[in-house]
Amino acid sequence: MKKPELTDVGWLGPRDEMDRASHRFGKCSECHEIICVEKVVTEGPSTQQQTSEMLYEAFRTHVKLKHSEASPLEFTAVVA
Ligand SMILES: [Zn+2]
Repeated sequence: MKKPELTDVGWLGPRDEMDRASHRFGKCSECHEIICVEKVVTEGPSTQQQTSEMLYEAFRTHVKLKHSEASPLEFTAVVA
């Protein structure tokens, strides 16, 4: 089985100014489910990185729940 990847990552919001966007989303390459996280903070210029990290964490949890093939120990911290 192929390892699922987060694809089609984008922002919900104005394209010209990504920092005004409220949500970050991506799609699971395995089951095509949309993973979406709300933006952490609404102010400040450097929240994109933080929100992206949240999205990837949400995706890792998704992979663990739906496509788990790795050692459960590796994911203990994520699901705890
Ligand atoms: Zn999936």
